[in-house]
Amino acid sequence: MQRDNAAEKMLTAAGIPVTRFHDRVLLPPEAVLTQQGEPYKVFTPFKKNLLNQLEQGLPELFPAPEQCPASALELNPIPAQLPGFASHFDVSHWPSGEQHAGLRLEKFISEGLDHYGEKRDFPAIDGTSSLSPYLAIGNLSPQQCLLAALSGPRGKGADTWISELIWRDFYQYIAWHFPRVCKYKPFNMATESVPWRHEESELHAWAEGRTGVPLVDAGMRQLKTMGWMHNRVRMVVAMFLSKNLLLDWRLGEKHFMTHLIDGDFPANNGGWQWSASTGTDAAPYFRVFNPFSQGEKFDPDARYIKTYVPELRDLSPADIHNPAKLHNARPANYPDIMVDLKTSRELAIAAFKK
Ligand code: FAD
Repeated sequence: MQRDNAAEKMLTAAGIPVTRFHDRVLLPPEAVLTQQGEPYKVFTPFKKNLLNQLEQGLPELFPAPEQCPASALELNPIPAQLPGFASHFDVSHWPSGEQHAGLRLEKFISEGLDHYGEKRDFPAIDGTSSLSPYLAIGNLSPQQCLLAALSGPRGKGADTWISELIWRDFYQYIAWHFPRVCKYKPFNMATESVPWRHEESELHAWAEGRTGVPLVDAGMRQLKTMGWMHNRVRMVVAMFLSKNLLLDWRLGEKHFMTHLIDGDFPANNGGWQWSASTGTDAAPYFRVFNPFSQGEKFDPDARYIKTYVPELRDLSPADIHNPAKLHNARPANYPDIMVDLKTSRELAIAAFKK
């Protein structure tokens, strides 16, 4: 904000006209306020207000700007690589550019949207749009996504997907109205006093996908190999770090921001604060996901887990989804679970209560 304001001031003083556009959100942050003119702090009434406004009129799509006249400057060749910017994962999943973004959107709308609601929580299925990197970098706008979702018959899949786009807007809006979240502060200031731990070896085991919890390890390894992780698994690994390990959620937030190809400050911060119960609409602190039950429910045949944790390929789903059975059946090259889930859950709840 400060940068843009300063640029606008400087350009205006130099007599250069400045026009600003809201291209990152469906509606500008000042347009969705409570009746008292206050920003919303919870998602559901925010969504209701935003949807009401969309019923009145859809956002405008701006035409592409005219091409600038060719520059007289001699251009330097664009380097294929920059030192310090090497990719640590396979970038072939993410062809770059607006054209690819548009094709991916089209494919999702025609093939994936109808069944989005039923499929979106299963990480082994290609059930979500995978558009997040393009939205994060601005190759694609949320307006384009919304209009595409409304272009066909409006089913449950479209409603659920639009709701996710509104979550995206909500977190942008929170960062705008409550800038403390961008300054290392929780949304809910009371949670400042939770005794968050900083244990390097535990953070390392989590980051490397060597916690001994199959779904957590699969997610962390997916992040490492793809630069992306399925939303359901993001919630599971974030809750495991912040609740079972009681590690400072900001350590996890930073790790994600460093490794995600769709790294987007407001969405990442919002997702972490939701999982750590420090944010808006936060999961109540006593609700701690059991990562084994989550695995059983959302990856019943352990297909996702086996893709990223090959050590477990010969085990049955029943062994993988049960901590006691896994303890006996695990191969020597797969670690034993690093923390007792029941005790660590109770300790986290007690810390929050205090
Ligand atoms: P789809 O399910 O197809 O959803 C469409 C779009 O809606 C997404 O591309 C994304 O732009 C937006 N969206 C969907 N879910 C959410 C959500 N819960 N919050 C905000 N926006 C959402 N998303 C990011 O774009 N960048 C991040 O850095 C990021 N970090 C996260 C960290 C944690 C701990 C958690 C729990 C979630 C995070 N998310 C983040 C949100 C979500 O996981 C991703 O947007 C989603 O997995 C991207 O996959 P997709 O494009 O297939 O999503």
